[in-house]
Amino acid sequence: MESQNYLSHNYQNKTMTNTPLILGDFQIYWINGGHFRLDGGTMFGAVPKVLWSRKCEADADNTLPFTNDVLLVRTPKHNIIIDTGLGNKLTEKQLSIFQVTSPWSVYSDLTELGLSRQDIDFVLLTHCDFDHAGGIVMHDTEGNEELTFPGAVHCLQKAEWEDVENPCHRAQSTYWPDNFNFLKEEGTIEIIEGDLEVVPGVTLRHTGGHTRGHQLVEMHSKGKTAVHLGDLFPTHFHTNPLWIMAYDNFPLEVIDRKEEYFRHYQQLDSWFTFYHDPLVKACKLDHQGSMNTIWPTGPNHQSL
Ligand SMILES: [Zn+2]
Repeated sequence: MESQNYLSHNYQNKTMTNTPLILGDFQIYWINGGHFRLDGGTMFGAVPKVLWSRKCEADADNTLPFTNDVLLVRTPKHNIIIDTGLGNKLTEKQLSIFQVTSPWSVYSDLTELGLSRQDIDFVLLTHCDFDHAGGIVMHDTEGNEELTFPGAVHCLQKAEWEDVENPCHRAQSTYWPDNFNFLKEEGTIEIIEGDLEVVPGVTLRHTGGHTRGHQLVEMHSKGKTAVHLGDLFPTHFHTNPLWIMAYDNFPLEVIDRKEEYFRHYQQLDSWFTFYHDPLVKACKLDHQGSMNTIWPTGPNHQSL
């Protein structure tokens, strides 16, 4: 299946869907962690514009629209959030720099699904860049900080936490202290080294690549598998293992990991779920690594 130019698809800039992807006994929802526009060049690294512009057309400023889709995974016993979106703490200046086109609405989206923030048991952080960790701590109506998911255990890799506490020069612009300080004081953090099955069927695996402590989330129920590769596979436009982002700290590692995981999870007929993709929320790959099934397949996406 060819990727299409998504500006020709009447892109609705919408994340929220009340229809979950069913995975055995699990339900996976995509909820709105904020939408923004990013420079097309940074999203495709060393890939020349003449190639990526065939799939997605940039505006006059060379930017493209992307989502920050928070995944809600409901198992028979637990409610799990994967990454937390941009949050509601961005200043006017930051909203303008990152061209935020749709504000973070995790709170109200959960309400629409009949859940409250207190109902979330685990927050699994693929990594701690601001676009994934911005919703850990939120502002209440008076502007005071509070934990977005006060009853949740926040799970992240040891290497990621070390880098949050002592960021290198480059990471200082993307690991924002106000996303973590309150968590350190008031929250519950579980530091993981390597792999861990958090609840039956939901497993974290250290990947590295995008950041030193980046991790994936594997979901498995009744013989069905889905994998969330975070920023190793941010959109379906990145299906070619060599198409990687300029934001990756260890690019060769990203390429190796993508090849390895694509092979492994394709053999399991796994869904690959996306965080930054404005159109496709999940896909399957064929044995040559091309996308052959997409989700959702509803009216808004039939033309894909
Ligand atoms: Zn990201």
